[in-house]
Amino acid sequence: MRGTNALTARTMSKTPQAIRGTQDIFGAEAEAFAFVVETFERVRKLYRFRRIEMPVFERTEVFARSIGETTDIVSKEMYSFLDRGDESLTLRPEFTAGIARAYITNGWQQHAPLKVATHGPLFRYERPQKGRYRQFHQLDAEILGAGEPQADVELLAMADQLLKELGIADGVTLNLNTLGDGDSREAWRAALVEHFRGVRGELSEDSQERLEKNPLRILDSKDPRDRAFVADAPKIDDFLSPQAQDFFGAVTAGLDAAGVAWERNPALVRGLDYYRHTAFEFVTDRLGAQGTVLGGGRYDGLMESLGGPATPAVGWAAGIERLAMLVGERAPQERFDVAIIPMDDAGLAQANSLARSLRAEWNNVEIYATGKLKKRMARANEAGALVAVLIGEDEIAAGEVTVRDLHDGEQARVAPADVSGIVAKAQNAQWLRQTEHSGIGLPDWIDPDA
Ligand code: ATP
Ligand code: MG
Repeated sequence: MRGTNALTARTMSKTPQAIRGTQDIFGAEAEAFAFVVETFERVRKLYRFRRIEMPVFERTEVFARSIGETTDIVSKEMYSFLDRGDESLTLRPEFTAGIARAYITNGWQQHAPLKVATHGPLFRYERPQKGRYRQFHQLDAEILGAGEPQADVELLAMADQLLKELGIADGVTLNLNTLGDGDSREAWRAALVEHFRGVRGELSEDSQERLEKNPLRILDSKDPRDRAFVADAPKIDDFLSPQAQDFFGAVTAGLDAAGVAWERNPALVRGLDYYRHTAFEFVTDRLGAQGTVLGGGRYDGLMESLGGPATPAVGWAAGIERLAMLVGERAPQERFDVAIIPMDDAGLAQANSLARSLRAEWNNVEIYATGKLKKRMARANEAGALVAVLIGEDEIAAGEVTVRDLHDGEQARVAPADVSGIVAKAQNAQWLRQTEHSGIGLPDWIDPDA
């Protein structure tokens, strides 16, 4: 293909830049990112959500039909393209629609109620800024085939615990609303249309358009021209059916019993069409305009819009980058037990052999094979290693290694088989230092000097 060759020749001369709105995540940010994902994995197991893996792309209609044609996502943010078979495909802008599609096409009904969780990259053509990217990442949790308010409670309790385990719950508030059932929502919608029609000319252009297609979305507008009219718009509470009221009452009672703090926000609607009953967002003012870290709700109508049987479900998604920004530098440093520093090739063979046996006992080991000895010691220290193991000519001749405790500087020559015992001691000592530091009292039976 001549065209491809010409393209390669042209682009080879200059290093290609990353795509706008994508990120290469490294260093402290990458550590915070990993901490968020690892904590999520731990918490979803506590609540017994099963891990699933989903395709990164789907047929375009999966998103168009479920998220709603008039939403920002479908109308202007999707990465859609024709593949070589002329089929319209879309890089997933969210997880829920694909998971709903999978539930129907795989007959996952047999597992209902099904609690699933996943995480990974998503794609939206947005204006990139801090906390807003074109490829970003989410944690996602869903309970499918569960119509009772307890599912909403469970899901929110899990979200709440996740934020607490991440150490970022302070200053993050759970905003909660109900959109009512189908009838309540219709009646509210009609009242909203009437209210906003009266001031149509003063609304933002976007909201004038929403008025016809999707009036609830006006409540979600961030445009200052709309805010005043949103404030005195009709409230859902005046339109809730008794059943919808009961449902919301059960959710809030469950949250109170589970110790999950929440605030009522009657204007909260969220940007997607498919929500019914519960809608929620965890918001903070610590991230500027990108203050929503986690959002979700109940989407009882979604499966039908994809041609499946009526299936109640509820779920949430959280932006990993936004959570990681809140975690910031507070991500715990990864454990580093042993730095092995061989002096020459014979030492390197010993280093590989020692590393193998230490790692088999779950010690974190790194071999520093090159560079000046002093430099290598400094690198090991900086990286926070507990123990350095030096292997030089003398040590090899004696069948020993030199072990140095990098906290107190104590040093000894020991047999390689004794290294793991010394590492265990250093780990204990560090644990004691950290416990003291954190102010957690030690139980009486522990002698800190032992
Ligand atoms: P926003 O109002 O900020 O655009 P949204 O309503 O579009 O958010 P959802 O579709 O509910 O967001 O996605 C859930 C979460 O995913 C958000 O609360 C946010 O943390 C994160 N998120 C959404 N879009 C982006 C993006 N472009 N970049 C980074 N994170 C994002
Ligand atoms: Mg958005």
